[in-house]
Amino acid sequence: TISMAVIDKWGRIAVGTSTNGATFKIPGRVGDGPIAGSSSYADDEVGACGATGDGDVMMRFLPCYQVVESMRQGMEPQRAASDAISRIARKFPTFVGAVVAVNRNGVHAGACHGWTFQYSVMNSTLDDVEIITVVP
Ligand code: ASP
Repeated sequence: TISMAVIDKWGRIAVGTSTNGATFKIPGRVGDGPIAGSSSYADDEVGACGATGDGDVMMRFLPCYQVVESMRQGMEPQRAASDAISRIARKFPTFVGAVVAVNRNGVHAGACHGWTFQYSVMNSTLDDVEIITVVP
């Protein structure tokens, strides 16, 4: 799964998620990828979120919508991301997944459960792409 959030120089925010889907998926399965709020969500006034992992579980929680709404209420990206993941883990302790959050100021964070995941960051203050490793 590739999820990408972008903030342009005017502060417009976009996010999108592309995936080949779950391993051994049944034909016709629609995963979390195309479900707004599940694998991605963005609001120019707040920030954006992308997700990867067990879409059949994660789509029940709309974790990216949760993250953006939590940031709207004032949570920092790290707390919003961790909160969204723990809401899922409470009900599905064995699920595997991750979210990455960025607020409108470019502050970013990730949270994961059941695996270690990485995301990369690039902005005008960096010379090269920065790779962030997120541990559960
Ligand atoms: N979320 C994707 C799906 O369940 C899979 C993935 O993120 O690797 O379709």
